[in-house]
Amino acid sequence: MAEMRRRGLLIILSSPSGAGKSTLAKRLMAWDGSMSFSVSATTRAPRPGEVDGRDYFFKTRPEFEAMVAAGEMLEHAEVFGNLYGTPRGPVEARLAEGRDVILDIDWQGGQQVRRSVLAQDVVSVFILPPSIADLESRLRGRAQDSDEVIAGRMAKSRDEISHWGEYDYVVINRDVDVAEEEITTILRAERARAVRQPGLTDFVRGLNGEFEA
Ligand code: 5GP
Repeated sequence: MAEMRRRGLLIILSSPSGAGKSTLAKRLMAWDGSMSFSVSATTRAPRPGEVDGRDYFFKTRPEFEAMVAAGEMLEHAEVFGNLYGTPRGPVEARLAEGRDVILDIDWQGGQQVRRSVLAQDVVSVFILPPSIADLESRLRGRAQDSDEVIAGRMAKSRDEISHWGEYDYVVINRDVDVAEEEITTILRAERARAVRQPGLTDFVRGLNGEFEA
């Protein structure tokens, strides 16, 4: 039997904050336990309940800048006055093992990853809220941020939404079950693309051999 293992997909999920992206990322990992989430580094302070190394790698600005200077970030960007970035090593290792990796990053990071050496592995999905009122109420429902922070996030949301056209797929999160179904359908289709199955040539050669036998 020919080796059929494909490289992993590099799944970029972007959305304005409050559109349900983190919930969807968790659901995707429950859908396929071999998928992994890329834990970003950030200079922002941890929120209550966040765990270093699980939610983010919390870094000081000098520590973060040293990682960038050493070429350790696949992409990085400033969001809400803090630096965020994707550590390169774990992402490259998992893709090479054939595991899909989810990146929860903003549009600036999305642009950089699409221009990186990993561009061929990218499947990018933009998640839109059903309405701005819904977005704001979800942000307030989290009750973790002050009014000022929420106002800043709403302004950033408008900017984030303006980049929807740069993504391969757009999913409107009216209902989280339906949105999850749409994304898993996208991933099933992407996994089956001929270009993502490097073992096909050998597999078909094997089929031809059986014809001749
Ligand atoms: P939060 O502070 O709410 O966790 O995240 C704020 C924003 O930063 C979100 O839109 C999130 O997608 C984005 N973000 C988180 N990690 C990264 C990263 O590694 N790179 C980039 N470019 N954006 C990130």
